[in-house]
Amino acid sequence: MIQISSDINRAATILQEGGLVAIPTETVYGLAGNIFNESAIKKIFKTKQRPLFNPLIVHVKSRKYVNEVAEYIPPKATQLADAFWPGPLTLVLKKKPIIPDLITAGKDTVALRMPDHPLTQKLLNALDFPVAAPSANPFGRISPTKAEHVANYFADELEMVLDGGPCQSGIESTIIGFDGDNPIIYRLGSISREDIEAVVGPVESITKNDTTPDAPGMLSRHYAPTTPTVLSNDVLATVMKHQGKRIGILFFKTIVPHDGIAVAKVLSPNGSEKEAASNLYAALHDLDNMNLDVIIAERLPNQGLGASINDRLLRATK
Ligand code: AMP
Ligand code: MG
Repeated sequence: MIQISSDINRAATILQEGGLVAIPTETVYGLAGNIFNESAIKKIFKTKQRPLFNPLIVHVKSRKYVNEVAEYIPPKATQLADAFWPGPLTLVLKKKPIIPDLITAGKDTVALRMPDHPLTQKLLNALDFPVAAPSANPFGRISPTKAEHVANYFADELEMVLDGGPCQSGIESTIIGFDGDNPIIYRLGSISREDIEAVVGPVESITKNDTTPDAPGMLSRHYAPTTPTVLSNDVLATVMKHQGKRIGILFFKTIVPHDGIAVAKVLSPNGSEKEAASNLYAALHDLDNMNLDVIIAERLPNQGLGASINDRLLRATK
């Protein structure tokens, strides 16, 4: 039976013995295992039911470690790490052979990130290996942003979730890969395109492809509630289309009352995209547990983190 606890020593012991621990980060909770322990890494894929072709992000404690595992660090990768690490930015770099193929799904690149959460930083400092830590949810489901979300998913499969409180940024990291020295956005996330471009200039995005995903975060259905979910520009018009059903609404900043709405939630009463991102998954978890027939989510203005949130909501609807 899973225990929710903030005991870093216990978490370190479980990881050193080849077990898995769910860990808090500023983005979402991760399912962590020692990257050099093959059985731990296989357990991550098995527990999440994640296909083996989906590579994992390696969470490191220091910039120094990046030099030990990356074959080449483009100058713009250094600029981005200077600007955003520790933080919700993942860099995909050419790897050295020390990184096992199981982590990278056989690719010659490795995804690296330095998380910005005090408990997880302490934990990483207590270990002499980095951890792989994909989001601690079954593949395709809503990512966990609270220890209880993890406990609900993996009550029997996991021994421990390290409780670091609710995740601050609340959606996954922004993933940047490189074509030679040119940065490419693989997945929009907790850092907006605008913030990336303020550091390195205009950046292209990779277009998604379900058969050979460079990042599974790019699969068109992902981050999904079990309740059918619709993304809408005009919530009330969409409510009319679903008359007679038990409807839940996820508004951005203001509840617009209407007959036939069973539950309404607001992501950010102040209209802050940052606050909306940090509340997004908890709101979806709550709505998904309310026996609704349909969840209607209001589309945000497509700028800044609004674009990242719309991306996640769109994938929740497929
Ligand atoms: P998750 O931790 O579940 O949000 O997923 C981590 C993301 O990092 C996935 O979408 C991975 O595909 C992506 N990723 C990890 N390694 C690589 C790599 N070598 N190339 C491209 N994307 C990667
Ligand atoms: Mg995930």
